[in-house]
Amino acid sequence: MLQSIEITATLAVPESPFHNLHWSSGLELSIDCFICERTGRTTRFELGAERAICSGDSRTGRHYTAARISVFDIDIGADQISLRAVVDYWWAPFHDAKRDVAATALTRESRSPWVRLHLGYHCPEHNASGAFSDQTNLVRPCPVPCEHCAVSIADRREVPRVRLLT
Ligand SMILES: [Zn+2]
Ligand SMILES: [Zn+2]
Repeated sequence: MLQSIEITATLAVPESPFHNLHWSSGLELSIDCFICERTGRTTRFELGAERAICSGDSRTGRHYTAARISVFDIDIGADQISLRAVVDYWWAPFHDAKRDVAATALTRESRSPWVRLHLGYHCPEHNASGAFSDQTNLVRPCPVPCEHCAVSIADRREVPRVRLLT
C-alpha cells in the first residue's frame, strides 16, 4: 500500500549578514524496505526523482526503491526558514530475517521515523558556499556558524516533525 509521510521543519535565523540560506533538494528518511526486506533503512530522496535509493544491507547493497518526494514547500521569512515535504513510498509486508522482526506499516501511534534535511548558504564576506544538515536526533538548541566567517546563520531549535498522512 502507498504510505505518505509529512515532514515539517523550522530553523530560526538570527540577524546576521545575508547568507542566502536555503533548503537543498534532498533528504534522508528511515523507512521499511520491501525490496531488500529490511526494517528502518536510510533511504535517500531527491526532489524531482521518481524513485529513491535505499541503503540496503551488506547482502543487497544500495538499490532503487518505489518512493519519491511529492510535495516540497519552502518558506523563507525574516527570522526563520521552514519546509513542508511529503514523501510517498510503497509499503508491503515482509519479515526482516536479520533482526527477526516483521515490517510494520506506519500508524499514527508508531514511533516517528528518523529524518535528515539539508541546507545550503553562501557567505558574502568570503564569496564561498557552505552546507549543513538538520536531523531528528540532534541535541538542541544547536546553532550553526558560517564555516567561513563564523557568524551564526541558523539555529536548530525545533525537532523536525514526521507524521503519517491518511
Ligand atoms: Zn532496501
Ligand atoms: Zn559567512
